[in-house]
Amino acid sequence: MPAKLLEGKIIADSLKAKIKAEVDGLKTKHNRAPKLLAVQIGENASSSVYVKAQKKVAESLGIEYELKVLPETFSQAQAEALIKELNNDKNITAIILQLPVPKGIDAKILVKGIAPEKDAEGMHPENLGKILLGNYKIGPCTAMAVMELLESTKINLYGKEAVVVGHSEIVGKPLSLMLLNKFATTTVCHIGTGQRGTLPEHVKRAEVLIVAVGKAGIVKGDWVKEGGIVIDVGINKVGDKIVGDVEFGPASERASYITPVPGGVGPLTTAILMRNTVELFKAGA
Ligand code: NAD
Repeated sequence: MPAKLLEGKIIADSLKAKIKAEVDGLKTKHNRAPKLLAVQIGENASSSVYVKAQKKVAESLGIEYELKVLPETFSQAQAEALIKELNNDKNITAIILQLPVPKGIDAKILVKGIAPEKDAEGMHPENLGKILLGNYKIGPCTAMAVMELLESTKINLYGKEAVVVGHSEIVGKPLSLMLLNKFATTTVCHIGTGQRGTLPEHVKRAEVLIVAVGKAGIVKGDWVKEGGIVIDVGINKVGDKIVGDVEFGPASERASYITPVPGGVGPLTTAILMRNTVELFKAGA
């Protein structure tokens, strides 16, 4: 039987409804709204698309949104000074740095400069550390989106064989900790696994498979375990199409649940960004 589709938009809509109700309550209680501030350095077509989408979602939920576009010529020191200033602005709940940044700017240093109490993307070392300790309300948006998709299946992760392919700081690593917090038996595969040639044997064991590599079709459909859950984070442009990292057709013949690409993880990440903002507001209110 073909897999059920885990459609991000439907799950995002129900999450957004919950966030909106919470924001309404917070506004009544505190007489002000959470505010998300986005910093963009230079003009960039892909950033502009994200920023537009963020503004639309934020405003639909009653969250204030402001975009600060800095000139392309801004130096690292100027950007760091601005972030310090924003950290001290009591009207701002959360800050997000839009990527990519121009050459010569070190985004990692800027992200670390965002105060942990204002860290909309949950990428500050202190917030990442809380995930390690299993005590967190906010986190990297894509990893949190994957957990939300898994939760929507109502499947108990306790003791399940979970395999994460990809160990980036924004997806694979935090996600593996989140899965461990749910007591999934978690394996993390990466380029070393791929080069050793043992990726198929790990993937074949996965009752829960999450792939975040960025290589179209790197996971073959016939590696997917019968009845397994497949979350495909990958976004790859092949010709004029966007595809994931998993061979969707054959994989969906074997899996119980699978995310489409596009339309799986992607639509949820902006909703999680808003949830992070609301959690930061509550923590600071
Ligand atoms: P990345 O590009 O930083 O790292 C890629 C990872 O894949 C690394 O951990 C690397 O070790 C691993 N890898 C590379 N080749 C491999 C191989 N042959 N076998 C096994 N592992 C291999 O990763 P990222 O930033 O997490 O992005 C991964 C993908 O997810 C990209 O396609 C990106 O566009 C997508 N992405 C999607 C969203 C979303 O909202 N849907 C968000 C973030 C990233």
